[in-house]
Amino acid sequence: MLSASQLEQLAELGEERSAAVGDVLFQVGDRRYPFVAIVEGEVSILDAAGNEIVRHGASGFLGELNLLSGQTVFLTAVVTQPLRYIAVDRDSLRPLLFEDGPLSDLLLSTFIARREALQQVQGVGLEVIGPHSSAPTARMIDFARRNLLPFTWRDPTRADDPAAAALVAGLDAARLPLVRLPGGVELRGPSTGQVSRALGIGRELAPREEVDLVVIGGGPAGLGAAVYGASEGLATLVVEGTGLGGQAGSSRRIENYLGFPAGITGSELTSRAVSQARKFGARTATPYRAVSLEPEGDRYLVRLEENHEVAARTVLLATGAEYRRLPVDGLSDFEGISVFYAAGPPEAQLCGASRVGVVGGGNSAGQAAVWLARGGALVTLLHRRADLRETMSDYLVREVERYGVSVRDQSEIAALHGEAGRLDAVTLKTGERLPFSFLFCFLGALPCTEWLGDAVARDEKGFILTGSRANADALLETTLPGVFAAGDARSGSTKRCATAVGEGAMTVQFVHGRLAEAPAARAAPAG
Ligand SMILES: Cc1cc2nc3c(=O)[nH]c(=O)nc-3n(C[C@H](O)[C@H](O)[C@H](O)COP(=O)(O)OP(=O)(O)OC[C@H]3O[C@@H](n4cnc5c(N)ncnc54)[C@H](O)[C@@H]3O)c2cc1C
Repeated sequence: MLSASQLEQLAELGEERSAAVGDVLFQVGDRRYPFVAIVEGEVSILDAAGNEIVRHGASGFLGELNLLSGQTVFLTAVVTQPLRYIAVDRDSLRPLLFEDGPLSDLLLSTFIARREALQQVQGVGLEVIGPHSSAPTARMIDFARRNLLPFTWRDPTRADDPAAAALVAGLDAARLPLVRLPGGVELRGPSTGQVSRALGIGRELAPREEVDLVVIGGGPAGLGAAVYGASEGLATLVVEGTGLGGQAGSSRRIENYLGFPAGITGSELTSRAVSQARKFGARTATPYRAVSLEPEGDRYLVRLEENHEVAARTVLLATGAEYRRLPVDGLSDFEGISVFYAAGPPEAQLCGASRVGVVGGGNSAGQAAVWLARGGALVTLLHRRADLRETMSDYLVREVERYGVSVRDQSEIAALHGEAGRLDAVTLKTGERLPFSFLFCFLGALPCTEWLGDAVARDEKGFILTGSRANADALLETTLPGVFAAGDARSGSTKRCATAVGEGAMTVQFVHGRLAEAPAARAAPAG
């Protein structure tokens, strides 16, 4: 709820308006809507089919994350009692959020909580229609999850959804998935970039961009560098292949990040970081995947998918890592349907009251197990070592016990059983069969550095060498002068949010040093 003084403050910035019962303030598919603070009256929020989701009354406010990101509207707002309200344009609201801590806290946390709730409501947001065996469909689902987009996935090969089969009948594989956007627009076989831009997310890059610092990867390391780089006057561009926030964005609750004694969800921490980076003028571009890096005169050229390129005086490689897959036959048949690599609100809703296996002994496995157990699932945690304490933080081991998660030491999965992607059971290497309907895997990480080829030296596992191991002067410099690496992608890094942020921030100091050594004409800050 907004306080009386916050309403006064908003009134100074916006416009006081009134609306009659039945008036529509915004509707599914709209590109823009103002922030609405209710002075008097009531508004009902409906999904695309007209089902009511919630009502807001006096001192309440309308809006969710798309108000800040500029995404297409997923819901409709209809006046149910004569309304007096303050409408504040999105562009006027933004500066206020940067200046007013308490208001920013209230709005950001509410918008994120609302988005999480929407992710659990069927029929809101995108509809993705494509078989689970189709790689582009799986990519689209991953993109939606990572960007916290509410979506419904309909598999046309499933007997219980003949309507989905009819919708894609006659479409060849290149035209899958069929993606239906809020408001009715249909895209056949779109790239994630096309969907992103159709939804109004992210920024359209020019075919060639020139910057002081290009950051590849928008996880904690990349965002840390963006905040410090932009706040210190560098023309900074963050290029992210999927969704800003990285692995941290998928963490249910980060308990060990400095300054948040009660813990903070990964999506809240990273949404705040994105706002902060933008406040200082860093540009973020999604989804643009970097595909190569090469020297070009006194700069480096980073080529991106879909024929874009960035010429940068310095580069930060912050592409992080991705979870390993379980080495069992037929895994891909189950992935995305009953085997997952992250446990978010949609998965928690899916798994309530089901038997769930969580595989892994690290903190991410512990967090997922606790989150799913709190959602009502019957969770068993399987890990390889003799004692969970060898690999998991003590506080999480205690949480695992507290929420009734059953722990099986020295347990490894040998086979999955089920049909049409639906898991029934797993067999352990000991031959024991355990009935699970869902499995969540957290098996350690592989670096996202394949795209670099031989451009910079990497260790035997593919992590990027820096500092003395790369014969470089600066601690985080790679074998290419002016190209730095930070966070999980860096060989020897600690694989924690705080260290990734710290390394990203530290890189900026090295970038200044490099730019002072090679004072080429400064890139004009673009966009
Ligand atoms: C479920 C989970 C829970 C966790 N919980 C905790 C916790 O409680 N505490 C803690 O300290 N740490 C936690 N971690 C670890 C922490 O999230 C990571 O250490 C941290 O996110 C690493 O940050 P990063 O920026 O180096 O990489 P990432 O977070 O991996 O971000 C890298 C980004 O780069 C992008 N990218 C990759 N390749 C390309 C490319 N070619 N072009 C463009 N972009 C690319 C990726 O899409 C990604 O967004 C958790 C991790 C997970 C998965």
